[in-house]
Amino acid sequence: MEELGIKKEDLKLKAGVFGAEQWSENMRKEIEERLGITAIDIYGLSEIIGPGVSTECCCKCGLHVQEDHFIPEIIDPVTEEVLPPGSKGELVFSTITKEGIPLLRYRTRDISSLNYEKCECGRTTVRMSKVSEELTICLQ
Ligand SMILES: [Zn+2]
Repeated sequence: MEELGIKKEDLKLKAGVFGAEQWSENMRKEIEERLGITAIDIYGLSEIIGPGVSTECCCKCGLHVQEDHFIPEIIDPVTEEVLPPGSKGELVFSTITKEGIPLLRYRTRDISSLNYEKCECGRTTVRMSKVSEELTICLQ
């Protein structure tokens, strides 16, 4: 855009949904400043449905999990014990409505945490923190 002389004010874009790979808050800030849009995060896994397992709202304080389709849990990746709300650990999903290849307690190898408090947007679905890293320890 900059090379073509297109100004962000000339765009009719208001928001962009970005996912598939991890991206930082600094990247969000740069995207929003340079494009003049709101940048929101989306999360998913091809093993489940692809993008859409969870998505940020306008508050940008965690990704709302689509709990009518997926049950999230956070586990200790070594002991596999379920950790209490707010704990950081490995994200695990069970699918409720997926047909054909339902998944039970599918280990994502993504590190996150779950927040069950009501969001300022009014939604009450659990929010997962932005995936901060992939699990790199050897699981046997
Ligand atoms: Zn919200």
